[in-house]
Amino acid sequence: MLLRPTLRSAVLLPFRGRQRAVGVQAQAAKSGKGFGTTAKLQEVPVVTKLEWTSPLQIIKYPDPRLRAVNAKINVFDESLMRLAKEMIEIMYQDDGVGLAAPQVGVNVRLMVFNPMGRDKPGNESILVNPEIVEQLGGKELGEEGCLSFPRIYGDVERSRQINVKALDATGQPVKLTLTDPWVARIFQHEFDHLQGVLFHDRMKPSVLETVRPELVALEEAFLADHPAAKVQRLAPAKGAKGFGAPKK
Ligand SMILES: [Zn+2]
Repeated sequence: MLLRPTLRSAVLLPFRGRQRAVGVQAQAAKSGKGFGTTAKLQEVPVVTKLEWTSPLQIIKYPDPRLRAVNAKINVFDESLMRLAKEMIEIMYQDDGVGLAAPQVGVNVRLMVFNPMGRDKPGNESILVNPEIVEQLGGKELGEEGCLSFPRIYGDVERSRQINVKALDATGQPVKLTLTDPWVARIFQHEFDHLQGVLFHDRMKPSVLETVRPELVALEEAFLADHPAAKVQRLAPAKGAKGFGAPKK
């Protein structure tokens, strides 16, 4: 997601150091108490070695790696910390507030975020194998951007508050209650990336139509550079008829 500093006054302290913040309660979970993986996560592959090429680059829609399955991480050494730090670095270079590993072409379940962005370093969260436990507080529409979709913005509906669980970079279970809607939104956006879901998938049709030309332009630019790539393109607008509309 992209930083919109004028609109935001989110608060989140790092749970590196187990600090507590307004809006967020972080606590280490007691081991062995309901912190097993869900059936859903057990179906995804597991990695015990992290591989990437430095410097990281943010991949753009419709790169197929944004739709690929993301493996669960089962390695908690300095390579994980290094990858997370490189992700935070490139997130800040692009003025982002959150980034998921598939966005740098690494298909693992890792996200980093700092709701206050690069002007307030030290507030980064690193979450491994995150899951949404509970959605609270109703839903609201809010404008989002995405570093994999340069200069595209649109309203997306998200839960205002969520309970999540994850592992930290050392492999310790953490539970978070994200009561600030901006922080909850960032988490949900990045969590979607780990499911291969992209923000325009969640836009209402009327919103999607406002960004359709930009999305198609990104598709065409990508296909020009990667003519053999199998990409998931935008479905035609509902009710589209005539030339170019597929039959089924
Ligand atoms: Zn994104």
